Amino acid sequence: MQLKLLWDLQKIDMTIAALEKTIEEAPLKSGVKEVAQNLDNLKSEQACLNESLRTARKTLKNLEMKIQKIVDDRKELNDGLYSGKTTSAKELEQMQRKMDILAEEKKKLEDRLLVLMESVEEQESSLKRLKEESDRAETELKEKEEKLEQVLSLYKRELTDIEEKRIEKTTCIDQKYLDRYTLLAEKHKGQALALVENDICGGCRVFISSAQRGHLYNPGALVYCENCGRLLIMLDESDE
Ligand SMILES: [Zn+2]
Repeated sequence: MQLKLLWDLQKIDMTIAALEKTIEEAPLKSGVKEVAQNLDNLKSEQACLNESLRTARKTLKNLEMKIQKIVDDRKELNDGLYSGKTTSAKELEQMQRKMDILAEEKKKLEDRLLVLMESVEEQESSLKRLKEESDRAETELKEKEEKLEQVLSLYKRELTDIEEKRIEKTTCIDQKYLDRYTLLAEKHKGQALALVENDICGGCRVFISSAQRGHLYNPGALVYCENCGRLLIMLDESDE
């Protein structure tokens, strides 16, 4: 009777161990970590792009200001040229040359401005794309986290139920049997008891000796496998 109770206890403990493993592995299997990592990457990409855009917009403003300054300078020169105040041919020629140089400079700045504007536009659309992507990832993460939470709470409820069953079971088992079981279970990865079927130990698959077989029919005897050391148990059909 005590052996049968120990056998049941072992089954309960195996179920508990499997459930604990499932609970431990659930976060990894849920894919939460992957999505969170992806979201992190998207966020840092966004931060880099934002920084780059800030710099580009600043440069854009500087260029615009430089161009405006040239426009103003040229207007002043132009006014000077046609005001009639300057009559020296040499001076007029110098003023004209200065106007040409400024025009050239303005052209260069405008070319740079165009290139930069295109780049800013591209970066803005990349940023928009990234934002959409990270919004999606955020939704996905939330869903996965909620699902994981649900699954975990189910598993934990199951674990609580089965742990209660374990307590009920152990109250009917003598302490010395329990102690022995605990010791053997530690040694054999939870499999303290082995079922004997067709004279073979279910733990190590080795035949048991005929002397041991004889002992097994004595209900009060504790018989250990001579090969692996597990506590042997034989079940009647009614036990299973
Ligand atoms: Zn064995």
